[in-house]
Amino acid sequence: SELLLEVKDLKKYFPIKSGFFRKTVGHVKAVDGVSFTVNAGETLGIVGESGCGKSTMGRMLMRVLEPTEGSILFNGQNIAQMSPANLRKLRKDFQMIFQDPSSSLNQKMTIRDLIAEPFHIHGQTSKSDVDQDVIKLLETVGLRSGDRFRHPHEFSGGQRQRIGIARALALNPKLIVADEAVSALDVSIQSQILNLMVELKHQFNLSYIFISHNLAVVKHISDRVGVMYLGNMVEIASKQSLFQKPLHPYTEALLSAAPEPKRNVQRERIILEGDVPSPANPPLGCPFHTRCPKAFDRCSLERPVLKEVLPDHQVACFLY
Ligand code: SF4
Ligand code: MG
Repeated sequence: SELLLEVKDLKKYFPIKSGFFRKTVGHVKAVDGVSFTVNAGETLGIVGESGCGKSTMGRMLMRVLEPTEGSILFNGQNIAQMSPANLRKLRKDFQMIFQDPSSSLNQKMTIRDLIAEPFHIHGQTSKSDVDQDVIKLLETVGLRSGDRFRHPHEFSGGQRQRIGIARALALNPKLIVADEAVSALDVSIQSQILNLMVELKHQFNLSYIFISHNLAVVKHISDRVGVMYLGNMVEIASKQSLFQKPLHPYTEALLSAAPEPKRNVQRERIILEGDVPSPANPPLGCPFHTRCPKAFDRCSLERPVLKEVLPDHQVACFLY
């Protein structure tokens, strides 16, 4: 299928300032050279522990955050380098859904105004159509037309996320970045929202980048999955390949810690020693070598790059 997004060597370094003159004394390497692609109609899950850089990466893709280095080719155009004016024209093509829909929704606005807001921002307002469009969007996400006169606080968490999704859909985006979009919801509500997102994906040929710390959720929704550790993408593969044959020692440890009741093969739990190093002072060599049970001499000297070792399965590790 058709390539929608191509991210190359994306970096975000936040300067660490110190002293009276606020001199830059170092950098937090939040995202340290990440590359991947997303096809039209595909869901790429990004999984990793908090602080691994996955949210920072998502925000750079939306250009809410300026990349330090690297390129983001969206339909062939590099949005990492794009001027604000040109970016504005593309803006409607990519949207974001956040964890806590209530904090991103203005409580004083009606649902109608909240959902219509993107139309106004993008100058797509022929007054008579707005109400019809809002009703259509509400029904698309499983809410009722009468809900447009109510306020966000009158809805449950799951319903508020449906409103967030309706807002994201309003301008017919091609790509939606969802950052911990269901993490604040009860498990039963989580699967309703995930199922809705899958339906919408097929209905509108959307692509998602679905960012979560929750492996089960990522497994539910993704076609392909990328694993991040300390600002690096350490493995990326089709969902089947990643879950059946995790290659990177970090992915193996992550999967071993996730309960999988339906599996008859029980994975042995791999307990990692030590803490994740600080992104302000990441180790030389492989970012995982300080905790890797399989590390050897070369790992502390050189940084492994992602390479394809199985069909649709890339890993950054010297074992392969
Ligand atoms: Fe472990 Fe070495 Fe592979 Fe890094 S490169 S994951 S340290 S074996
Ligand atoms: Mg986050």
